[in-house]
Amino acid sequence: MIKFSNVSKVYKNNHIALSNVSVTINRGDFVFLVGPSGAGKSTFIKLLLREIEPTSGEIIVNNVDVQKLTRKQIPMYRRSFGIVFQDFRLLSDKTVYENIAFAMQIVEASSRDIKKRVNQMLSLVGLSNKANMYPHQLSGGEQQRVALARALANNPKLLICDEPTGNLDPETAWGIMELLNDINLSGTTILMATHAKDVVDKMKKRVIAIEKGVIVRDQQRGVYGYED
Ligand code: ADP
Ligand code: ADP
Repeated sequence: MIKFSNVSKVYKNNHIALSNVSVTINRGDFVFLVGPSGAGKSTFIKLLLREIEPTSGEIIVNNVDVQKLTRKQIPMYRRSFGIVFQDFRLLSDKTVYENIAFAMQIVEASSRDIKKRVNQMLSLVGLSNKANMYPHQLSGGEQQRVALARALANNPKLLICDEPTGNLDPETAWGIMELLNDINLSGTTILMATHAKDVVDKMKKRVIAIEKGVIVRDQQRGVYGYED
């Protein structure tokens, strides 16, 4: 589903953020992307989303050569992913329901489909009773559940999570991880960049470690492998 072939990214200041990276992520994989700060994890994700372009190499996603996307095709390409961030990024003037519905309105889903799907997603993340609340009325864990529901509303094949548990206490983080595991088991591919050692060590999923722009480790049922 994702294939990086000899991908390098050199920023304008000549900083080599990724160096000759080749890796394949298959449909249904659950992948942790780990490595020290500055290793190149965000660069990897930005390349995948085509927020930046590689200096060399090829990125194929669902049989599409990402470099060959036209300017017009890029927004639709990005919308084929679900994305969850550390800081939730909910719309503060919209309710829980409206935050999730909004993601579907952007892709012009019918109001009937929106209603059905939003309610399904609310039930999936266990927030049906908070549909009419605003983000500031929710705990961090609940806000992240809303963000997850929103990311999944359009049924993406791939869910990208950038430090999704970074702002959550350990117990709440586990709730989110259980949800991600269920989502993965139902067929969604997950790529999660994280520094959460305990989470990575307990989940026993594939671990790709990047250091100084190079993949130094790629294990099935891997471990975090750093002390921080
Ligand atoms: P590109 O080569 O992708 O166009 P630029 O070098 O023009 O990237 O920088 C893009 C943005 O990233 C700028 O706003 C810049 O301030 C910021 N930036 C520059 N250096 C770094 C760095 N070391 N880490 C993170 N962001 C940086
Ligand atoms: P990570 O997400 O693993 O912390 P990044 O992909 O953000 O790492 O950064 C990889 C390296 O590239 C770092 O050394 C960072 O300072 C540098 N970098 C990131 N963005 C830019 C940019 N826009 N311009 C110049 N250097 C950058």
